[in-house]
Amino acid sequence: MAKEYDLVIIGAGPGGLSAGLYAARSRLKCVALEKRVPGGQITDTERVDNYPGFPDGVLGVELGQLMHQQAERAGMEMEYAEVTSLTLEGNSKRVATTEGGYLAKAVIITSGANPMKLGVPGESEFTGRGVSYCSVCDGPFFTGKPIAVVGGGDSAVEEGDYLTRFASQVTLVHRRDELRATKVLQERAFSNKKMDFRWNTVVEAIRGSSVVSALELRDVKTGQKATLEVPAVFIYVGLRPNIEFLNGLIKLDSGGHIAVNLWMETQVPGIFAAGDVRCNSAKQVVSAAGDGATAAIAAERYIKEWRP
Ligand code: NAP
Repeated sequence: MAKEYDLVIIGAGPGGLSAGLYAARSRLKCVALEKRVPGGQITDTERVDNYPGFPDGVLGVELGQLMHQQAERAGMEMEYAEVTSLTLEGNSKRVATTEGGYLAKAVIITSGANPMKLGVPGESEFTGRGVSYCSVCDGPFFTGKPIAVVGGGDSAVEEGDYLTRFASQVTLVHRRDELRATKVLQERAFSNKKMDFRWNTVVEAIRGSSVVSALELRDVKTGQKATLEVPAVFIYVGLRPNIEFLNGLIKLDSGGHIAVNLWMETQVPGIFAAGDVRCNSAKQVVSAAGDGATAAIAAERYIKEWRP
């Protein structure tokens, strides 16, 4: 038997938890489904410095827990399950998960995004054995050792700076000669004596025997090859939206993000999308939270008019 709700929220990151807070305060019967931990991607970062209201920053895990507590106190339910499909049954939406089914009048998709892969030889083979996508999880294993980070965006620069707490040296390998990251993060990284930069350089392969021992690098301007001996590489080359469970139900943009209007409505009535999974997202904690609130307000309006 499927459990019945007014609203099912897929994913309990900042977008999902804000949506749950607003929906519960509107007295909608709502549940958030989360396959990992409340907070989503922010739990993979040590500190969030740009969420308003925390002048000294806040730990990613703590912010996730606080958002979760607030939404639950308002009346949102939370269940731990991985969503496997979303389908329509008349005006109802059926959400299948690894732990059972749900039937809802409306659904808000806040399933976020996962780190993209580099796609080079050795990457899959050495994942968990020197190749990592999570500095908070794996950084301490490389205390006192030189390591590499790949990418030039906010994630690579921020996590590279964080990793210098453990590593003896962090070499940031970037394919251009200019970082994409926010200026304040760049300034912090450039003034960090434990960080150095390999510009115009790509990783061609990750080598090792049982664990990573080196990266094969190529200068994209000169073609010159080099070997960087490190026991670990942290890869931060962008995010891929989590939309596998949709099976073509909803229109996506060319990057696989869900197309929405300004009310976070998808082209399917009663299905909304918010946060990193939606098209044109600023991909910030604060914007995901704002999206979630907007989607919940729109969902409440939709549910008021809902007929089976
Ligand atoms: P991103 O902004 O898309 O940056 C990805 C970086 O990886 C770029 O520098 C890109 O190079 C490089 N890259 C992409 N594919 C590559 C490849 N195949 N080989 C080598 N390099 C490659 O991704 P992100 O840093 O994960 O950030 C994602 C979003 O989250 C952004 O909107 C960001 O602002 C946000 N975010 C915010 C914070 C924060 O506010 N503190 C923290 C983390 C993330 P090019 O520059 O040459 O394209």
